[in-house]
Amino acid sequence: SNGLMAGKRGLIMGVANDKSIAWGIAKACADQGAEIAFSYQGDALLKRVRPLADSIGAKHVLPCDVSNGESIDALFKTLEEDWGSLDFVVHAIGFSNKDELRGRYVDTSSDNFRMTMDISVYSFTAVAQRAEKMMNDGGSLLTLTYYGAEKVMPHYNVMGVAKAALEASVKYLAEDLGKDNIRVNAISAGTIKTLAASGIGDFRYIMKWNEYNAPLRRTVTQEEVGKSALYLLSDLGSAVTGEVLHVDAGYHVVGMKAVDAPDI
Ligand code: NAD
Repeated sequence: SNGLMAGKRGLIMGVANDKSIAWGIAKACADQGAEIAFSYQGDALLKRVRPLADSIGAKHVLPCDVSNGESIDALFKTLEEDWGSLDFVVHAIGFSNKDELRGRYVDTSSDNFRMTMDISVYSFTAVAQRAEKMMNDGGSLLTLTYYGAEKVMPHYNVMGVAKAALEASVKYLAEDLGKDNIRVNAISAGTIKTLAASGIGDFRYIMKWNEYNAPLRRTVTQEEVGKSALYLLSDLGSAVTGEVLHVDAGYHVVGMKAVDAPDI
């Protein structure tokens, strides 16, 4: 087939439904000729992910819980047997107890801190360890982060601390894997109404705030994150690694509420 991603095979982790950022990225890659394998967490999500995969002709829909190393091994073993090599991986996974995505960061529990860091941060490194072995002609790894890594955002709490660690790990992974022409980047996406986002306190208000104050005076879509992901995953981004690309309608450059923004 034709397209920017023709001949490339990639694993996309983190589709829960058609609102998922991972799904926006999957569609953009498939449109440009990529062959995609999906991983999903837990049997309940299979009935949502399977029809989405079918709609773009993706054969592989494989279970993987990233909190379990053996589960990640099993996923990569299947891909190794079926594909042999891999060109890209998208990691669009994060999780924290939603009781701690409201209120104060200082009240974060030890158990939830560890779980949040394990699922939302370490899993990207765990995936990179396995993917590296299958990326014989170089490759591109991509994860998703949020502005709450850089600045304090209401209710983001432990997830902000986790995203800061995730962004730092992108840089360390970029250095380690660069010698093998494997690039490692993150997209810092603007707020999008997804399943994961609905766990965050006052999310509607945060969406509105972004809409009124971002330079483009709007939020962003899954499709737009997908287009930017295409740049990092394809040859267009061949010299880009260790980068955190903001796809947020410009929100991250703003230092003060706009004069034309209404009180919300
Ligand atoms: P989503 O709920 O559609 O996706 C989150 C995914 O994480 C789900 O598919 C879920 O199954 C998966 N997941 C959670 N725990 C897992 C585990 N143990 N093993 C395997 N998978 C697991 O929501 P989304 O907003 O598309 O989230 C994707 C990524 O984008 C997350 O990292 C999120 O932090 C990030 N992000 C989201 C926004 C936003 O506003 N929605 C903004 C910036 C960054």
